[in-house]
Amino acid sequence: MESTKNKYVLVIHGGVGTIIKGNMTTEKEAAYLETLKISLFEGEKILRNKGTAINAIEAAISVMEDSPLFNAGKGSVFTHEGKNEMDASIMDGASLNAGAVASVTHIKNPISAALQVMQHSSHIMLVGDGAEKFAKQQGCELVDTSYFYNEERFQQLKLAQQNNEVMLDHSGENNNLEGNIENSGRKLGTVGAVALDIHGNLAAATSTGGMTNKQFGRIGDTPIIGAGTYANNTTCAVSCTGHGEYFIKNVVAYDISALMEYKQSTLKEAATYVIHKKLKHQNGEGGLIALDKKGNYVMSFNTEGMYRGVVTTDHKPKVEIYK
Ligand code: ASP
Repeated sequence: MESTKNKYVLVIHGGVGTIIKGNMTTEKEAAYLETLKISLFEGEKILRNKGTAINAIEAAISVMEDSPLFNAGKGSVFTHEGKNEMDASIMDGASLNAGAVASVTHIKNPISAALQVMQHSSHIMLVGDGAEKFAKQQGCELVDTSYFYNEERFQQLKLAQQNNEVMLDHSGENNNLEGNIENSGRKLGTVGAVALDIHGNLAAATSTGGMTNKQFGRIGDTPIIGAGTYANNTTCAVSCTGHGEYFIKNVVAYDISALMEYKQSTLKEAATYVIHKKLKHQNGEGGLIALDKKGNYVMSFNTEGMYRGVVTTDHKPKVEIYK
């Protein structure tokens, strides 16, 4: 096998959806692309300095969590009750260790809390108040819920409530929200990253605010290992975005790994099958980024667009939005 030692790859996403060029202002498009570039820059810095895939994806995701543009951390969408409840997970492909937090409301960077769960607890998933108590003990920054307030997102909630809909993220669309939702369907948020480091290890992570108008403590695929996130050095690292219920039912992230392990599918074959056949057939909107142990990567989605970017040892950072 061709050696990947001394080579690194970092792939990120900032959600999928009906991201139509005509519906996006030039300023907003530029802001998205710029934030994706900063995310790649911060992650790559770690990989270039011989750091781990885990630390690189945490850094890359934190940049997107700190931006109001993406549906994660600061930009999280609102629940039916007008709250921001966030989910995140991270997995190390070398050890199969993983950590996740769900329904947290005060953690500034849920991805860092998920990493603390992976590294410093004997559990994999912590939820709500318990997760916050643990994160605080581990030194994660907790903030007042007002930190997550965003007027545009709040209007999205009002609209979703009027239409009695649970919706995926509508960031990136212009102010004509109503028209856009009617004309262009749904749009999903969520951020994720997968990386291969120079030591040959894979890792994957995902962070989200979930779906606008979600109710009754709904938790999506993002914090569920195997559904929204999965990494295994012998196969691949995967981070998903889309209509979470479909990703849970189809155990999408693990399904990609399983197709490679049991059927000897290539990463591309596995992703194409799951995103464009299996999910599409069920009307399950979404996409994923994935990376195999040789450094091959895919960015697959069955929607109009996906905020995404990649940087490798051999190639400069590249960021894209549309199909
Ligand atoms: N998958 C996320 C969820 O269902 C949403 C998204 O990717 O936008 O919670």
